[in-house]
Amino acid sequence: MADKRDYYEVLGVQKGASDDEIKKAYRVNAKKYHPDLHPGDKTCEEHFKEVNEAYEVLSDKEKRARYDQFGHAGVDPNFGAGAGGGSPFGQGIDIDDIFSSFFGGFGGRRSNNANAPMRGSDVETSIYISFEESAKGCKKTVSYNCISTCGECHGTGAQAGTQPKTCSACGGSGRVTINQRTPFGVVQTQRTCDACHGKGKIIDNPCKKCGGTGKQRKNKTIDVTIPAGIKDQQILNVGGRGNAGNNNGPAGDLHVYVNVRPHPVFERRGDDVWCDLPLTFSQAALGTDVVVPTLDGKVTYTVREGTQPGDVFKLKGRGIEHLNGRGKGDQYVRVTVEVPKNLSSKQKDLLRQFENATNDKNYAQRNSFFDKIKKMFNE
Ligand SMILES: [Zn+2]
Ligand SMILES: [Zn+2]
Repeated sequence: MADKRDYYEVLGVQKGASDDEIKKAYRVNAKKYHPDLHPGDKTCEEHFKEVNEAYEVLSDKEKRARYDQFGHAGVDPNFGAGAGGGSPFGQGIDIDDIFSSFFGGFGGRRSNNANAPMRGSDVETSIYISFEESAKGCKKTVSYNCISTCGECHGTGAQAGTQPKTCSACGGSGRVTINQRTPFGVVQTQRTCDACHGKGKIIDNPCKKCGGTGKQRKNKTIDVTIPAGIKDQQILNVGGRGNAGNNNGPAGDLHVYVNVRPHPVFERRGDDVWCDLPLTFSQAALGTDVVVPTLDGKVTYTVREGTQPGDVFKLKGRGIEHLNGRGKGDQYVRVTVEVPKNLSSKQKDLLRQFENATNDKNYAQRNSFFDKIKKMFNE
């Protein structure tokens, strides 16, 4: 008892704090230390209990008055009773109850009633598809693990031919109310039933397949339709294919993370497709018909005479389908020019002849560049 922290200090409020301030501080602290957010963290769990205990006392006018007057001893059920040991006040507080009253339960998983239907949790899996598949859409078989209802006992947990019995200790509610007599009156607390561990049911002959849990971990496969236009890292939600719910509650969802493999030639920008097209110097200079790869196969494009490196031409409607199904993006083709290497002496001779035959008219960009330089140096 001596090492107990001051309740006001636990909640981080002043001694004279208003009810609202206490409530606010409680919510902040309870959220901060909630075990769901820190699974397996004992320190957080202790903090969480401490916060609940403090709130249990400070939110109650009578208890708070006694606490203010006598400290922790004033709210100890054994105070003045002369009984050694015993439980400090607050041990019987049921975390679930406090939480469902404040937050409506975390994610709907907590409930006051052991028999209330609860939705199963969501599960995740991921798939890899090709660039083309993302552009055109596809069907894929996805495999994943999830908890499903046991096929043997159909979720009851009892061996075939037997039924679970309603727990007599709690009448099936999964909770028991404990009345503790104190010098200040009867204090009523609720806690999870020990006999059935909160399930509200007792199974005498557990199902051999699932060990009485009514659930089985299964590997499942499902066919999913991937819509055309889906992007890398997008998530497909498949309703009702997640973990099975409790007490006939609905199953959770399946989230399919879609990974799109990069393409060796195409690059996606929005719903447009970009690619480079390497031309030879002569092709670019003379113009030519070239074969361009698109998502719909090869198309022929006429490159005009005098095409420059970096020039971009557009193939309308050759891009990726919009995810909403209305139309498509375009394809953009960026011209690069490859300078020939490993030339033979004959080729070199021809190029020199060509070079000697060129004039200013052939190189507009080059001329304008050197004109600018002349101006810079006042030449
Ligand atoms: Zn079973
Ligand atoms: Zn029970």
